[in-house]
Amino acid sequence: MGRRCRRPRRRDSVRGGAQVDSVPLGARRRGATHGSGPNHLSDDFELVAETFRRFAEDKIRPVAEHVHRTNGDVPEEIISGLAELGGFGLSVPEEYEGFAQGGEHDYMGMVVATEELSRGSLGIGGSLVTRPEILTRALVGGGTEEQKSTWLPRVASGEVMVGIMATEPDYGSDVAGVKVTATRTDDGWLINGVKTWATFAGRANVLMVLARTDPDRTKGHRGLSVLIVEKEPVGGHSFAFTQESGGRMEGRAIDTIGYRGMHSFEVAFEDWLVPAENLIGLDEGLGRGFYLQMAGFENGRLQTAARAVGLMQAAFEAGLDYAQNRVVFGSPVFDYQLSKVKLARMAALIQGGRQFSYAVARLMGNGHGSLEASMVKAQVCRAAEWVTRESLQLHGGMGYAEEFPVSRYYVDARVLSIFEGADETLCLRVIARRLAEQALERSGA
Ligand SMILES: Cc1cc2nc3c(=O)[nH]c(=O)nc-3n(C[C@H](O)[C@H](O)[C@H](O)COP(=O)(O)OP(=O)(O)OC[C@H]3O[C@@H](n4cnc5c(N)ncnc54)[C@H](O)[C@@H]3O)c2cc1C
Repeated sequence: MGRRCRRPRRRDSVRGGAQVDSVPLGARRRGATHGSGPNHLSDDFELVAETFRRFAEDKIRPVAEHVHRTNGDVPEEIISGLAELGGFGLSVPEEYEGFAQGGEHDYMGMVVATEELSRGSLGIGGSLVTRPEILTRALVGGGTEEQKSTWLPRVASGEVMVGIMATEPDYGSDVAGVKVTATRTDDGWLINGVKTWATFAGRANVLMVLARTDPDRTKGHRGLSVLIVEKEPVGGHSFAFTQESGGRMEGRAIDTIGYRGMHSFEVAFEDWLVPAENLIGLDEGLGRGFYLQMAGFENGRLQTAARAVGLMQAAFEAGLDYAQNRVVFGSPVFDYQLSKVKLARMAALIQGGRQFSYAVARLMGNGHGSLEASMVKAQVCRAAEWVTRESLQLHGGMGYAEEFPVSRYYVDARVLSIFEGADETLCLRVIARRLAEQALERSGA
């Protein structure tokens, strides 16, 4: 009983006047990041950070644990609140009622906002903006003027939620081989086949589906196009719809160890009819689906790095808080040199990931940095596994207890190296390949 009494009370927030070598952490200073170092943002971006930080603190953190443990849905108030803040329009150009003006500010804003939302929760915070981002990039890159003006304002306002459907049961890393078909008919496109791991496909009103529009499979990735599939939004873990034409769409959520709230679905299509005007780029978009999808993922990788930084920050704060309050051998865990070393290493990784993400955002805003976007994703997502592990370790047995949020951070971190390009595929197929190409170019071969 004595030991249990000295266990710190579970907290979702680190507030409470904890001290690191006399620096009050409860009073968060401008630009400070709860003990892992200053973020070195300009005044403009500090304002963005503060806005999303406050939203995450007030609206996301208080419910994150409940959603995780009940495997519940993302609360609608979070979606509407994020929409009000403009969170879904960060990459949508101004002329389509979003906030993007072109250039590095757009990427920086997205990274800064994502980090703060993910510090609130990976599952019901930072990841909500990933899907609209990917659709936005595809529409901006390959949509007709009419498609852009139809969809982008609705994405920016949060009126439509988006699900992304690239992965299939037999094709994940090698997504160029996907076999879901879209067949042209007089009435539009008929979709048949099974997509899997489509996150938020239940609540989504539109699904961005990568499908084979050219029946000649020898064309490989050049036979793919992207379609916008409309559906009714629903909560929960399953759905089924039948069209007047007889088309069927049926989805069931795959239970996961973490990253809960949006739910990731396996979805079967049977003659699901999509209007002809919903193929991105119309005839010009035929065969361009793979490129449009990859362009979206490229940005998604930077965004995923920002998600990892926010998650690491939350884990760091939890570990620091626990270490300062838990007394072992007569002293707080924090007082032992080894704990300070652990926390310092965590802070160094977080700061490294954060500043690398900012640097890649600036590069991408100036038309470069696609290789670095993959690199930052690969590096920071692995770092998040280590940081959340170390934070859990600082908690001792209580780190393994569900009642402490660090157990959620630990399982949430594990998904980061799987989606948006599984780590091995990303390193082999994107990073190593591009480095090899660059080396060949330099040698003039
Ligand atoms: C929670 C969650 C949410 C997701 N959300 C979405 C979503 O919204 N939309 C969507 O389309 N997809 C989504 N995905 C799918 C995700 O993108 C895929 O899981 C990922 O691309 C890997 O594909 P796979 O699962 O089929 O793994 P596989 O392709 O079967 O790979 C298995 C393992 O082999 C490794 N591997 C593959 N090729 C090689 C190689 N050449 N050499 C060495 N190792 C290799 C991989 O890195 C991996 O570790 C989600 C996945 C998860 C878990």
